[in-house]
Amino acid sequence: MKACSLIDKARCNCAVVGVYGTTEASRLAYLALYAQQHRGQESSGIVASDGRRVNRHVGRGLVADVFSDQALFATLGGHMAIGHNRYSTTGASHLVNAQPLVANFREGPFAVSHNGNFTNAGELRRRLEEQGSLFQTTTDTEVVLHLIARSRAQDMTARIAEALLQIEGAYSLVMMCNGRIYAARDPHGVRPLCLGHKEGSWFVASETCALDLLRAEIVRDIEPGELIEIHDGVVESHRFAPLTPRHACIFEFVYFSRPDSRIFNENVDRVRRRLGKNLALESPAEADIVISVPDSSNTAAVGYSRRTGIKFELGLIRNHYVGRTFIHPQQDMRDFNVRIKFNPVKGVLQDRRVVVIEDSIVRGTTLRQLVSLIRQAGAREVHVRVSSPPIISPCYYGMDFPSTSELIAAHKSVEEIRAWLQCDSLAYLSLEGLLKSVAHDDEGYCAACFTGEYPIPVEDNYSERVHEPL
Ligand code: SF4
Repeated sequence: MKACSLIDKARCNCAVVGVYGTTEASRLAYLALYAQQHRGQESSGIVASDGRRVNRHVGRGLVADVFSDQALFATLGGHMAIGHNRYSTTGASHLVNAQPLVANFREGPFAVSHNGNFTNAGELRRRLEEQGSLFQTTTDTEVVLHLIARSRAQDMTARIAEALLQIEGAYSLVMMCNGRIYAARDPHGVRPLCLGHKEGSWFVASETCALDLLRAEIVRDIEPGELIEIHDGVVESHRFAPLTPRHACIFEFVYFSRPDSRIFNENVDRVRRRLGKNLALESPAEADIVISVPDSSNTAAVGYSRRTGIKFELGLIRNHYVGRTFIHPQQDMRDFNVRIKFNPVKGVLQDRRVVVIEDSIVRGTTLRQLVSLIRQAGAREVHVRVSSPPIISPCYYGMDFPSTSELIAAHKSVEEIRAWLQCDSLAYLSLEGLLKSVAHDDEGYCAACFTGEYPIPVEDNYSERVHEPL
């Protein structure tokens, strides 16, 4: 059983990193991946280079397991490295699909790490195969390698730009070739990607929490439609696509990103507190304590508690050490999958009217069991407040949601969901409340999983094939 199947959450698909200009490049890439473990737990990989030789190590599992052997770093020498943590949203979860992918071009090896989804990958792949391309993996990411390889543009920067202009969808890419690191963000800026600097070395990462661990200065976000090129100690910026409306993923604030990160020019912690405060304004509750479903709902619960004046308590304790596999009891133990992860604190919950803050509801199966556990621990009333609107549509831009038929809010009213969860009251944050919480710089957000309105075109058959090999 996979650890990630223990909990009913949408899953983020990937983290990317790039390190340039230090003999410790692969070790620092490892640390940056470690800080971003929450963005992908199925496989991890690093490609390192001294500008001539390129070495790659990938494996299935968590970063610390894949790179448990210190001796590995001796084989990953060189002053630059790129890395990747993966949870697959396209392409089967085989080791052949682990990233960074590497292909041999006429200029030498080319490596790429990708966070996001190419929404026209099927069409591009069919076209490339008709022209003779042979694919080695089932990931959408490989498409970009073929597009770059086939480009007739004069230099590598122009070839990458030409390839990216053919791709639709969401992507934050880190690439390495010819002694250079390149990083690019799709024109709509769906996924985060930031640039850092420390003592002559340059860093690229999905989230700033990785830069913090490396004690690197956060320089700025890579801009939507921007391609940067790091070489000889300098960073060159190229705009590969015209300015276009931004559609940054609002769910990164709700759940995916770490609260200590800064993404899309906003601190995640601050936005999450505002989510809780706005939820409290919209849907207060008569209660004795506020608790969170740890850890992703903690910050919103603090915001809710501050706004309502209801005391925040730790009513559920999460076991952080549930590994990828564990021994399952042979007898059927009701709620086991949830109870191994969360334990209610009876002394906190006994005889209390409890507000439970949850960041989002996908299928609702985990939350239903948690409501039951909280009641068993003696709570008098259980009021659920959700710091995002009902999820009614899947994501095609790099997050793994179940199909629409499995999304509880896609086919049940709020009252029907309340009855199914068996809680005393249920309220979601409104879409207006969500947008008000992130409003910053007048920049635009994607909220398609809450509205069903997709800002970037998606291939007709995309929803059927998103979980299947291309
Ligand atoms: S559909 Fe939802 S999860 Fe996907 S990019 Fe848009 S806001 Fe993010």
